[in-house]
Amino acid sequence: MSSTQVLIAEIDGLEHATDAATLRLKSRDFFWFSPLLKPQLDDCRAEISVRPHSVDEVMRLASAAARTRTPITVRGGGTGNYGQAVPLKGGIVLDMGALDQVIEVKPAVGTFAAGATMLEIDKALAPHGQELRFYPSTRKQATIGGFVAGGAAGAGSCTWGQLSDAGAVLAVEVVTVEEAPKLLKLEGPDVLKVLHAYGINGIIVSVTVPLAPAHPWAERMIAFDTLEAAARFGQAFTEADGIAKKLVSVFDPRIPPKLGRLGRKVPEGKAAAIIMVAEPQAAAMEDMARAHGGEIVFARDAEGAQMAAFEGKGEVGPLYEYTWNHTTLHALKRDPAITYLQLRFPPDSNLEVMGRLAEHFGDEMLMHLEFQRRFGRATFSALPLVQFTSEARLREIMAETEALGAQVSDPHTYVLNNAGWKRVDAPQPEFKRQADPYSLLNPGKLAE
Ligand code: FAD
Repeated sequence: MSSTQVLIAEIDGLEHATDAATLRLKSRDFFWFSPLLKPQLDDCRAEISVRPHSVDEVMRLASAAARTRTPITVRGGGTGNYGQAVPLKGGIVLDMGALDQVIEVKPAVGTFAAGATMLEIDKALAPHGQELRFYPSTRKQATIGGFVAGGAAGAGSCTWGQLSDAGAVLAVEVVTVEEAPKLLKLEGPDVLKVLHAYGINGIIVSVTVPLAPAHPWAERMIAFDTLEAAARFGQAFTEADGIAKKLVSVFDPRIPPKLGRLGRKVPEGKAAAIIMVAEPQAAAMEDMARAHGGEIVFARDAEGAQMAAFEGKGEVGPLYEYTWNHTTLHALKRDPAITYLQLRFPPDSNLEVMGRLAEHFGDEMLMHLEFQRRFGRATFSALPLVQFTSEARLREIMAETEALGAQVSDPHTYVLNNAGWKRVDAPQPEFKRQADPYSLLNPGKLAE
């Protein structure tokens, strides 16, 4: 019997698939965003896809994998863009999609099964008058477990910060990969043991996060004469503490033409901002935008915005699906020679450093800013579009960017501890010995 047949016998009764089409689909994520990762990961395949329907089934699978020493790559929505969910060493791809229950909702806190998508969670929270504080622009496909294990920030981060902030994730339940797997609950700072660990430190089966009061989020797109004017408005609006906001994204004038039907609403040569603002305060935001020279080119009320997000209805998709790494996706569809970087700016000189980069790189870098609160300050990170010519030039661009004062996190590596500020946090290696003693979880993602 092959090792896969032995495993299948061990997991008798669990939903699984071994056909080539399913294995291809479940072995891929959005690594192809990177021209460097694409050739490295295109042919990687799991040998079996298993879809558990309960925590007990996850534990049975973990036990079988430990006994047969079979690698496991956990998969949520498969929307990671660094190949995080690509199995490098075959084995099992563990599809968490059927563990999608809302486990508990209380005032200001909710617990969700790890495979629940962020959009389905928000739909379930709406009747409670609550919502997730922030979600990635992949809200529709991304799972809450995958976000905790592989994501960072998103729509809502202009108000609520990012996943790595204390209190952003209150608890997780994790299954260990041993002959007799354990179900561990990590709370408070212990959550760091699995946060952004690419699923190498245990199988997350539930996530508890704080919730925010739901607001009716209206959408606007605003045109500005220059990137600088749009960025100054973004900064002032993010700092406007009296206005509830969910999204503040700013684009260089060369980006709107890459944003399809929505982008065409921006007059040629103009920079733009995409905003989600509490509907009763939209007028106050618009006054601020006009004071910065802005012209409203697209407006949708909160009901229309929610229909676009919840029901897929409307002239254009929800505006957050044009921001964060969706901007890169839209651009790549129209210009495959483009790639991207992930940058952080020093809060005291973010606009100045942005100006330096724009001047230095000219047509090689198209600036795209996402405003965030970081450590109590309003600032931005960036996902600039970059003309790709060669790996050598891309590496030079990263070095020159750092020299000009921004911090680069390399999105062109699948290795967790090679990516700039994404370091393996102190409690993680120690916890790995406990949660994955045979190093079966997502092998190859951690440089030894
Ligand atoms: P997957 O891609 O399935 O997995 C991500 C990682 O987590 C993998 O290493 C996987 O092994 C691990 N994992 C998944 N589930 C579990 C689990 N239950 N237990 C243990 N490990 C697990 N990211 C952002 O942070 N913000 C954004 O706004 C954003 N926008 C994006 C836009 C586009 C177009 C794309 C392609 C990506 C974007 N991303 C963004 C990246 C990605 O969508 C998010 O990080 C998302 O939250 C990942 O969730 P997922 O369920 O798809 O995870």
